Amino acid sequence: MGQEIETSAAQIEVLGEHVRNQIAAGEVVERPASVVKELVENALDAGATHIEVALEEGGARLVRVTDNGCGMGQIDVGRAFLAHATSKLRLPEDLVHIASLGFRGEALASIGSIARTQLLSRTHDAELGWRVEDEGGRIGELVEAGCPAGTMVEVRDLFYNTPARRRFLKRASTEFARCLDVVQRLALAHEGVAFVMTHDGKRVLDVEAEMDLAARVRRAFGAELADALVPVEATHEAAKVRLAGYVAPPRFSRRDTSRQMWFLNGRYLRDKVLSRCLKEGYRGFLVEGRQPTAFLHLHLDPSTVDVNVSPTKSEVRFREQRQLFGFCVNALREAVAKTDIATPGESMVRSMERRLVREDPNQARFSEPGVLTPSSPPITARDVPGRAFEPDARPPAPLPSSDDAVCAVPAAMGEGGDDLAGPYLQVARTYLVRALPDGFEIIDQHALHERITLEDLRAEVMAGRPEVQRLLVPELVDVAKAELARLKPRIEEFAEMGIELEPFGEATVAVHGLPARLKKPDAGGLVRDLIALLEEKGETPRLDDLVEEVLHRCACRSSVMAGDALCEEEIRALLERGRALESDQTCPHARPTRVRFALEDLEKAFHRR
Ligand code: ADP
Ligand code: MG
Repeated sequence: MGQEIETSAAQIEVLGEHVRNQIAAGEVVERPASVVKELVENALDAGATHIEVALEEGGARLVRVTDNGCGMGQIDVGRAFLAHATSKLRLPEDLVHIASLGFRGEALASIGSIARTQLLSRTHDAELGWRVEDEGGRIGELVEAGCPAGTMVEVRDLFYNTPARRRFLKRASTEFARCLDVVQRLALAHEGVAFVMTHDGKRVLDVEAEMDLAARVRRAFGAELADALVPVEATHEAAKVRLAGYVAPPRFSRRDTSRQMWFLNGRYLRDKVLSRCLKEGYRGFLVEGRQPTAFLHLHLDPSTVDVNVSPTKSEVRFREQRQLFGFCVNALREAVAKTDIATPGESMVRSMERRLVREDPNQARFSEPGVLTPSSPPITARDVPGRAFEPDARPPAPLPSSDDAVCAVPAAMGEGGDDLAGPYLQVARTYLVRALPDGFEIIDQHALHERITLEDLRAEVMAGRPEVQRLLVPELVDVAKAELARLKPRIEEFAEMGIELEPFGEATVAVHGLPARLKKPDAGGLVRDLIALLEEKGETPRLDDLVEEVLHRCACRSSVMAGDALCEEEIRALLERGRALESDQTCPHARPTRVRFALEDLEKAFHRR
């Protein structure tokens, strides 16, 4: 074949419509969640105020979306499954000001080519509706049919005719989770629209039309999260930017981004720049690898963003990216610092109960006799090495043991009014227990001290005059040659942060001075940290990044307060210094500095409610 040019048939063929649709489907329809997204977006485009999504087997067996939108007349029903059939785009110019969600006229044709699909629709002024089926690209006859006004699209047996792709589907529970994620996002983005979703007959989401964002979050993710949200609200008049929504305390963070939602001019999207804003906003409040929970609407002048029109990716380019970034990060940080970061006792009570169930299913409730005894207080029993209780810790005030004792503390406090009154109790020379008007809190003195040291150091460095404690005898730290080479070009920068180093021979660093703030600093550990840091960050870390990280490490190489017995004045001084900071609720590694138990938690733990 192809040898004799004059007789060879043409090698290039124009692909048939059916094949083209299947190829398009490869782009548009990756999994059941993509079908759900396309169909629900169509319903929204049709002006629906009530949308029902029914799934079976994670959507692989069935996705059915029913809406009360404008519906379609006979001709449109007949055309809906044709490729590039759309009512949303007429002229090429329309591409620049698209308000609707879908516009390429690809979704239905694509879905129809890889599933058994039927569409049933009626406009509000027609008596009867029309039905059409598309079985793997074979579009059937138009049939007149009775149905409610609006549209129903039913997609069965996704990928039944493309087995290779079907094999890529995950377990039903995984596919279902992705579908739920899509519907939750759309439900959160579209106030004014009711959403009902079922999976294998069970109702999994129910949001009424009149619910606002906060109420939607409550419905979708529960009261505990909804109650803990802190609003974000900021406007940049000149740039015509508005940011509004909610951030959750760091303890609601997750390994994935499923509780992180950005809506750009009412449309949800995942975007790297916006994710980075959030990460920056939570900097120092979240441990590495965790994703914060937040629901945020960003309103921008549409002419200042370029939304990538690819159907599966939603990436945007912002015209004033840096400015926007700074504006968002500031607004977010301010809100994040206001969240209640102290892990509330309630979730701790629950997690302890879970742990007890794992260890001994017979003792599922941790307040059963014998589980909570004076010699094994719930917090310290397992978590503190050595003796759980430090008998000679000062001051020897007892734990508040009844409601009365708790209430005996002046009750006039709340935000800002708390005078940090004692008595305090130090446990295991590590934890400070303090009564609150409505419960008590346990403070990790080391974590708190680390945070204070970091903030103090940062303030000094920012002011350009870190106080240095010169060492009488320089401390010599042995390092590898290559490590020394890496350190050398940075020595000046370190000096600006109060760390005075000098190469000493080929494989030794002499430490001449360290920030005076550091208590009992560990020079060797710090030098090794700096080397590791440079390795991690590559050759040229950004200066502000470097400062932040170096100060981090200084703070944690110096605080030796775990294990220090503290007297009442020292405890009070520590708490007061913490109080003066932007936030003293986490240590620089974002571990909480304190855990709070409300009266309510105690009552639950002791089965009084
Ligand atoms: P697109 O949404 O890009 O226009 P689709 O293939 O998703 O393309 O849909 C094709 C057309 O079918 C839409 O333009 C719209 O006119 C019509 N349509 C689809 N779904 C609905 C619906 N739920 N209600 C009313 N019309 C719909
Ligand atoms: Mg569409």
